[in-house]
Amino acid sequence: MTQRTLSIVKPDAVAANAVGAILGLCEEGGLRVMATKMIHMSKAEAEGFYAVHSDKPFFGSLTDFMSEGPVVVSVLEGDNAVERYRGLLGATNPADAPEGSVRQLFGTSIERNAAHGSDAPETAVAEISYFFNALEIVRR
Ligand code: ADP
Ligand code: MG
Repeated sequence: MTQRTLSIVKPDAVAANAVGAILGLCEEGGLRVMATKMIHMSKAEAEGFYAVHSDKPFFGSLTDFMSEGPVVVSVLEGDNAVERYRGLLGATNPADAPEGSVRQLFGTSIERNAAHGSDAPETAVAEISYFFNALEIVRR
């Protein structure tokens, strides 16, 4: 089933010049880039994106991190895209992510783990609309 998901190359991976490598792994992994842009989120914008985690102890640190520098947000499309991209990313903690996964290759801590992927199709729809309007996403 063709599906869409939201990807964020996080500030650590943008700073490490790994944008192309990560989007390359997406393409090699069967996902197509339907929209992409670089933005620098304010603290409030990062808090809005991660509102679901607002009661977690790491919320303040996470939203500082996500607003410390530019990120690359992308809409990725492909068969079973949500699960497919989560598989390419590997576990939240890079130490637990499989060899060759995005987080194993480019993440350096459970917080600074290089990239985000939506966790469910409904989450993907909400996350895509947080960053992109209809005109910014190519039609197939
Ligand atoms: P995922 O990004 O794999 O869906 P979560 O939704 O649980 O993971 O967490 C969102 C983000 O918050 C993670 O990608 C990571 O950057 C950060 N994070 C998660 N757990 C921790 C933690 N225990 N300490 C610090 N940061 C964390
Ligand atoms: Mg999550």
